[in-house]
Amino acid sequence: MPHFEGDIEKGPMEQASSPQSSSSVVHELEPAVAAESSAITAQRLSHLNEMFDNDDGQFGLDDFTEDEIQAATAIAETAQSVNIPPPRAIQSSGQQTTPELMEIFYQRLFPFKDLFQWLNHFPSPTPSFTNREIAFTLQNDVYLRYQSFPTYDAMRKEVIRLNPSRFEIGPVYSANPRDRKIVRKTAFRPLEKELVFDIDMTDYDEIRTCCSGAKICNKCWNFITVAIKVLDVALREDFGFKHILWVYSGRRGAHAWVCDKRARGMDDTKRRAVASYLELVRGGAQTTKKVNLKRPLHPSITRSLNILRDSFSSAILVDQDPWKGPEDAEKLLKLLPDKMLNQELKKTWEALPDQSSTSKWACIDRLAQQGVSKSLDARELMEAKQDVVLEYLYPRLDAEVSKHLNHLLKSPFCIHPGTGRVCVPINSARPETFDPMDVPTVTQLIDEIDEYDATHKANESSETLADYEKTSLKPYVDYFHRFVSDLMKEEMKEKRQRSQENQESLDF
Ligand SMILES: [Zn+2]
Repeated sequence: MPHFEGDIEKGPMEQASSPQSSSSVVHELEPAVAAESSAITAQRLSHLNEMFDNDDGQFGLDDFTEDEIQAATAIAETAQSVNIPPPRAIQSSGQQTTPELMEIFYQRLFPFKDLFQWLNHFPSPTPSFTNREIAFTLQNDVYLRYQSFPTYDAMRKEVIRLNPSRFEIGPVYSANPRDRKIVRKTAFRPLEKELVFDIDMTDYDEIRTCCSGAKICNKCWNFITVAIKVLDVALREDFGFKHILWVYSGRRGAHAWVCDKRARGMDDTKRRAVASYLELVRGGAQTTKKVNLKRPLHPSITRSLNILRDSFSSAILVDQDPWKGPEDAEKLLKLLPDKMLNQELKKTWEALPDQSSTSKWACIDRLAQQGVSKSLDARELMEAKQDVVLEYLYPRLDAEVSKHLNHLLKSPFCIHPGTGRVCVPINSARPETFDPMDVPTVTQLIDEIDEYDATHKANESSETLADYEKTSLKPYVDYFHRFVSDLMKEEMKEKRQRSQENQESLDF
């Protein structure tokens, strides 16, 4: 068991129960809701807008200024600070994570307020937050679905009390998820959720040679970096989305949350359409050729290819070296179209075994130019080589995650139980600077608070710092905060415009 010297003081709320001992907690082990393919009608969307606009009235749309956002934020901060125990020295255990470390993490480091504003898009609670499903995975693996909260402070207290190993974010429903059994069935349906994407190294296992299983290294992380680059630009340029949050999954993948209002309101049909548009690599290990594209290429694919070409030599040919052995080289030959050229390539490679993938790849063009095959169609060969680049490096999506409005996805800033690492945002403008090995673990963060407090005892100013500011989590929280601010600003602007337009039409 981990040893804690200065135990964090527990308030009455925290002492009340643990997940295992609580009888007041309703544990609902419900199967995941079957995908509903219900389209959101214009009528329902307009009803949704009304719900947002006719909020509890704390903030009128017309007189809402950025100063007021600041003021509302300050009030919320004061409310939160009341509940934070005074900083104390904590000895961490050196394990990846323990329930005790998790509790401290939720109490002192988890950015609940930013998470609330991110989901709510407004300073005071709206149905975007209050009707939002949160699902907890408790330390004893009980899965607790359909939780929802009136305020972020209520959520924060419940997270600290339940101390889940992680939690997931689901859709905004037409009624409070906690009331789903007392409202009419038709009155309880998912209305909106961020459009999400999941990229996981599992889908690259058949082509990566550097690691296997749960392991990752900087070489194979390149697959994820390239995937972020390609998808991010496609979502921005082809769909016009602006608010895309990329988040490290904590071990070997990344999630994208497209937060634009237009994306949140998409029904399953639209989500499926976007996912299919972005999905090029299809089929498992048994499928010989996984990329089958018509020519001329769609401009979006040409753009993707240009991004991929930059990384192909280093990330695939050098780092993965996938066709080094004779059997592996056979896989490459199967993707090339000309029989005679393939025979010549095979001969050349058999004469010089263990040639690198770089030289084998270069050999294709060299032999082609020497005219070893009379039947060779140069264009066909070039297209086949393009397909190879796409097959080895184009983002491999877990498309099912993207297709359903009611799919739940792990929240940013949760801790991955296997690695202890925080699911931090990745700056999509510079994904190549993100190193998963540098992402702080919960143990490390708590050590950093201790260290900071120990060296700043005499300094009064340390009292005013939030705990996250004492740690290497700070740049990630700051990034998230900026992302959320930009999103909120745009939502407010749109709301004000809609309100003005309504006013003008009334005046007219
Ligand atoms: Zn690796």
